[in-house]
Amino acid sequence: MSARKLLAVVASEVAVCEKCPLSKSRTNAVPGEGNLRAKVFFVGEAPGSSEDVAGRPFVGAAGKFLEELLSQIGLKRKNVFITNIVKCRPPKNRKPHQLEIQTCTPYLLRQIKVIKPRFIVALGSTAAGYLLPKAGLPFSKITQVHGRSYEASLDAQKVTIFATFHPAAVLRGGQYKEEITADFALLRKQLEK
Ligand code: URA
Ligand code: SF4
Repeated sequence: MSARKLLAVVASEVAVCEKCPLSKSRTNAVPGEGNLRAKVFFVGEAPGSSEDVAGRPFVGAAGKFLEELLSQIGLKRKNVFITNIVKCRPPKNRKPHQLEIQTCTPYLLRQIKVIKPRFIVALGSTAAGYLLPKAGLPFSKITQVHGRSYEASLDAQKVTIFATFHPAAVLRGGQYKEEITADFALLRKQLEK
């Protein structure tokens, strides 16, 4: 099956998925979207309210900010792939529970297998807290792992994992704006190699 078809199959399964309790509170599941040949694959936490309505990832305020960060490093949405750890919005935007993460991430891993990105960028502690340990790497806090590249093997696939802050958390807190900008500059250097 072609990459396009395989991704469409994942998206169609996600659209009707009822494997975890988040299916009850969602309006639309948000499978993720982007370039089939993306070199860089972004992973957020979970859809927020705008994403839940649109069925698309990072279309609200955090998405605007992410697009700004992308343009600073010479990338556009259409060049990359964007998705989340869980595909359905948690009630009141609470953090997804471990069981929800464990139930949903097989979809993410299938997407990664199809796209075969060179870089996976974990946006925030939920994404980093899943991806780094999954690749056998330690994770404690996002403040300790951000801005660093980890050569890793994820499901037997070689990939560089890069962690940074979550754009929504930066917008909310007003903290770490310089750090996330600097992290994206580091990411650009890595991409140019
Ligand atoms: N925050 C996320 O983690 N993902 C989105 O898609 C939007 C906001
Ligand atoms: Fe299914 Fe994931 Fe949505 Fe849970 S969050 S219902 S596992 S798609």
